[in-house]
Order: sequence, then structure tokens, then C-alpha cells
Amino acid sequence: MRLRRRDVLVGGVTLLGCTTRSNPIDARAVSQVVPAMPTIDGAGVRLHRALGSRALPLLDPFLLFDEFQSDDPADYLAGFPQHPHRGFETVTYMVHGAMEHRDSVGNAGRLRPGSAQWMTAGHGIVHSEMPKQESGLMWGYQLWVNLPRARKLIAPRYQDLAPETIPEVTRADGSQLRVVAGKTAEATGPVTGIDVDPLFLDVTLGKGAELRQPIPVGHTCFLLAIDGAVRVGTTEVRAGSLAVLQGGSMAQAHGVEGGGRALLLAGRPLNEPVARSGPFVMNTEDELAQAWVDYRAGVLTRG
Ligand code: MN
Repeated sequence: MRLRRRDVLVGGVTLLGCTTRSNPIDARAVSQVVPAMPTIDGAGVRLHRALGSRALPLLDPFLLFDEFQSDDPADYLAGFPQHPHRGFETVTYMVHGAMEHRDSVGNAGRLRPGSAQWMTAGHGIVHSEMPKQESGLMWGYQLWVNLPRARKLIAPRYQDLAPETIPEVTRADGSQLRVVAGKTAEATGPVTGIDVDPLFLDVTLGKGAELRQPIPVGHTCFLLAIDGAVRVGTTEVRAGSLAVLQGGSMAQAHGVEGGGRALLLAGRPLNEPVARSGPFVMNTEDELAQAWVDYRAGVLTRG
């Protein structure tokens, strides 16, 4: 059977007259494109901050998004020695290279290429995040995710996700997805029990490939291109730029000539006041002051 242009075949039934003239998808539109800004953090690590800088301070519930990518050891060897966190979650995602995580109550783990760690700091941890290599390419990401007021002081929790626990999907159009958190048509990511119902996808799109990912209406959604470029609507988002996606119920992106790779993130906004100071994210200045008092008194090192 030959379909006329405006007919759509659904489960063997032809629905006549479905329009293809207008976009049938309730696609989110790009509201903002922000280049990641070079900065230095930890003990002298050169990185690019896509979120959490003056250009883009906050995308509720996401507080910070950093990329470290360098093959010059001088850019990363200093690492992130002992420091505290309270009131939110840090997510580390490694593309290449190795990092070692160690906290003050004896938790330790190695982050390999393709692995992720979703750490809920809760009421507090003191940890170090140090490179486990002396040369070669170090390429990874750290995302900060806020906790709701009622759960900022919960017990710390680690979800260490080995590369093989993260589902990898190859679709008919050649696009590839790694599902760290949330759900696609084929797979569910291994991250569980996170308040903001997060989506974290690593998406590779060749020319002609298309991503359509349902996003709950009202959830914050953005993508960071990390290699090549992807197109959202008429906007080409190049590696190192973050695009905020607003409005619809579907994130849609297309592959371009040369292909590209992007991290697609979404989560439920908390709509609560944010008070932040260095490694602490609370709701009020008083709570921040208390976090510093507790840290100096050694409360956070006890886990
Ligand atoms: Mn940290």
C-alpha cells in the first residue's frame, strides 16, 4: 500500500488527514544558549562552567554544571582535595580518564570512563576527588542537583554506577543513547530515589538522526553539546554551549553534518529559596552559617 503524504499508518490502521504541515510534536524551543565559561576550581583545576556562573547562575533544580576536558596534566593534576558538601547532590560523569573518590568515613571508589557517581551529600560529607592518572586525556562532568528543603539534612548516600550498569541504546537511525537517569522508550537508567525525578542522557546523533525524548511539562530541561554539534529547531548548539529548552512536552534534537554528542538533562524544579556559599547549598543564610559552624566542629566528617 502506498501512503499519501498526509496519511499516517498506526498499527496497520491508516488515519486519514493527519496533518504533516505543522510540527506534530510539542517540541521544546531553545530559549537561551550560553557558552561554558573557563574557570579554575578545586586546588587549581582548569574547567569550563556551563551552569552556576554569572552568565547562568541557576536552572532550578540544577545548581552547577562543569566540564573538565584536557590532555595537559597541569590542568587537572591538582584535583579536588578534601572539601565538604551539604544540602544537595553531586553527580560525576566520566567520559575519559579516571578519578578517585574518597570520603572521611571510608567510602572510596574509582570513576572509570563511562561511569557515573550520584552522591547525595545530605546533611554532610567531607571528600576528595582526585585524578588517578598522570598523563593523557581527562574528560568528565560534574552536575550539582538541589535537594528539597525537607530533605537537605538526610543521611549521605552514594550511587556508584559502573559503565556496564548504564544502559546503551542504538536506534534504527544510528543514534546512540546512554541512559544514566530517567527513562527512554527502551531503557531505564540505574539512578533511583532522587527527589527531582531526573533525566540524564548522553546522546550521540549522526547527520540525519533525530532524538525525541518526552519531558514532563514544567520540568527544567537543557542540553550541553559536548562534541561536534546538534541542532534544536533552527539553532545549532556547538560543543561547549548549553541550550535551555522551554515550553513543550518533548525534547527534540537533530544530527548535523559531522555529527555531535550532547548531555540532555531534565528535572522537576523545587521552587524554593536558594542560599549558597561555596560547597553548601541551603535555603537561608542562617542555615549556611550553621553549615560552616558544623563543618568547623567536625560534624560533617562523621558521615
Ligand atoms: Mn565535591
